Amino acid sequence: MQQEMVATQIEARSIRDEDVLRAMRTVPRHLFVPEEWRARAYEDRPLPIGAGQTISQPYIVAYMTSALGAVEPRCRRVLEVGTGCGYQSAVLAELVDRVFSIELTDELAAAAEARLRALGYDIELRVGDGGEGWPEAAPFDGIIVTCAAPSVPPALVDQLAPGGRMVIPVGSDPERQELLLITKDARGLIEREALLPVRFVPFRRPE
Ligand code: SAH
Repeated sequence: MQQEMVATQIEARSIRDEDVLRAMRTVPRHLFVPEEWRARAYEDRPLPIGAGQTISQPYIVAYMTSALGAVEPRCRRVLEVGTGCGYQSAVLAELVDRVFSIELTDELAAAAEARLRALGYDIELRVGDGGEGWPEAAPFDGIIVTCAAPSVPPALVDQLAPGGRMVIPVGSDPERQELLLITKDARGLIEREALLPVRFVPFRRPE
């Protein structure tokens, strides 16, 4: 099922990064979703993961990982905002040296930590507001945001290394946001490019 998912949903939609495909063939997606959804883990759709949140559709995970340039040798340290069930973190951990991930909801963070540890993934996790980034661990070669923000959090742009890339869904419409690629060149100049329309759960502010 997992091999078929990669062939029909990802390769067929023109993701050709061999390392991304390998990571998607390796990480056991069914172990990241609640028991009752396990049989549907390799379908072409997002799934509920508890606390009103979702794990992204496999194609979107592959697309964002590829857009981030996670397979490039320069991409060694990556920050993720929105750990959720930990699936995207595990895919990144297959490709880069260090993954840092921040989750706002305690309950999801605790479950992700236990799951990632059980599967042998060594990922730095933190509970908190990802909008502040992770200043002590910055700069990052890549930043991936998996919840939709009304605008790009300035702290995240600051924490991007020269030559770094950020992939982030931006927009206030809950039904449709724009996935943006933000690049910082060697001199620190920022450019943004719209990649595709997406639908993510909202970026929430801590209470
Ligand atoms: N990458 C995740 C996707 C989870 S959905 C996965 O592979 O499962 C997005 C996640 O972002 C949710 O778990 C939500 O709780 C979290 N989130 C929302 N606002 C946040 C914030 N300000 N800081 C950190 N995480 C946040």
